[in-house]
Amino acid sequence: MAEKKKLNQTGKASRHKVNHNTTNAQPHAKKKDGSCAYAKKCGGCDYQGISYEQQLEMKQKNLKKLLSAFGKVEPIVGMKDPYHYRHKVHATFDCTKKGQIVSGTYKEGTHEVVDIVSCQIEDEQADAIIQDIKGLLRSFKIKTYDEDTGYGLLRHVLIRKGYHTGQVMVVLVLGSPILPSKNNFVKAIRQKHPEISTVVINVNNKKTSMVLGDRNITVYGKGFIEDELCGCTFRISPSSFYQVNPQQTEYLYEKAIACAGLNGKEKVIDAYCGTGTIGLIAAKHAGKVIGVELNKDAIRDAITNAKRNDIHNITFFNEDAGEFMVRMADKGEKADVVIMDPPRSGSDEAFLSSVVKLSPKKVVYVSCNPETLARDLKYLTKHKYKVMEMTPFDLFPMTKHVETVAYLLRLK
Ligand code: SAH
Repeated sequence: MAEKKKLNQTGKASRHKVNHNTTNAQPHAKKKDGSCAYAKKCGGCDYQGISYEQQLEMKQKNLKKLLSAFGKVEPIVGMKDPYHYRHKVHATFDCTKKGQIVSGTYKEGTHEVVDIVSCQIEDEQADAIIQDIKGLLRSFKIKTYDEDTGYGLLRHVLIRKGYHTGQVMVVLVLGSPILPSKNNFVKAIRQKHPEISTVVINVNNKKTSMVLGDRNITVYGKGFIEDELCGCTFRISPSSFYQVNPQQTEYLYEKAIACAGLNGKEKVIDAYCGTGTIGLIAAKHAGKVIGVELNKDAIRDAITNAKRNDIHNITFFNEDAGEFMVRMADKGEKADVVIMDPPRSGSDEAFLSSVVKLSPKKVVYVSCNPETLARDLKYLTKHKYKVMEMTPFDLFPMTKHVETVAYLLRLK
């Protein structure tokens, strides 16, 4: 999962123009040379001013340094068009001392909002919706929230968009549950953007740097959107984890499933399963799948996703993956394939040692951090596993982040 990142555009001359449809005079997203106008203030993109080709080379070089002890690193799978790939877009709202409403991201290390009209890595439609929400605030007498005083209403806007379905969810994060003239507000924003399929108010009245609060109130549509990945349909709620770059995610998951080499009979564990994405895709090709995940909301989404896709050979457990695996190993249970997709901190010894005890023929490790991947591969390769293939995928152009699928086989 990457942080919100911004990019500097070099080497690409023509991009589509965004129709911002806004009356506010705003700084433009691009400088004349095509580079990002917010680069200095925003600081979100690690690879500012570096061509995409070079970025991929840098990632490859770093992966080679970290992973070549375990075998060959395949060439990184980059994007044909590395711009506007983020399908989850978040903007913080604020008001300057001069009374101008601004929306965007915090300037690095500060609580000052950089006013961003359109970001080169964010979905253009999402950015346009945010601008139009900004344009509507005054006429609806909606004030932005002041973090220090707790006065005002609108804190953040979060947009999520299905890549294949095109469904759009707008989440208005408010300091209190009441949005004045909410029906007219929804009507006004939908008039400009009929593609919006649901609008949710999220109540966050805490002094916190977390974007979302606990309570969601659906004011238009179903309160969630759906998207498709590798032939399965997934529900995305305001706080569900769903990869921000669905286009590349599809390649990543396809690779993970291909590495698992399923023939319809295997018992597969999908560890750190989130909303069940990888496990559900795998279930179509496996005998039985067990998904395990710590986050209770994600498990709820996973169960819904299983029903939505009419998949019955999968069971989800809401538990620490390490503890779950230790128990399985202690009971003497077996698994044919373990697919694991841990967070950036990687896995832990409890988990890895039980993988060794369970002794699956194949381990497919989907990693978002090559450093912890290297650490965990070191453990597994010391304990009768051999790395057969490592394929990196660029899910986060303009940032330093990279995903890798490593496939290990048990030695006889
Ligand atoms: N495989 C999913 C999610 C991967 S993100 C997908 O591709 O969408 C990593 C997931 O690991 C998160 O959902 C996080 O909640 C979960 N997680 C973190 N620590 C965990 C632990 N100790 N045990 C189980 N799950 C954990």
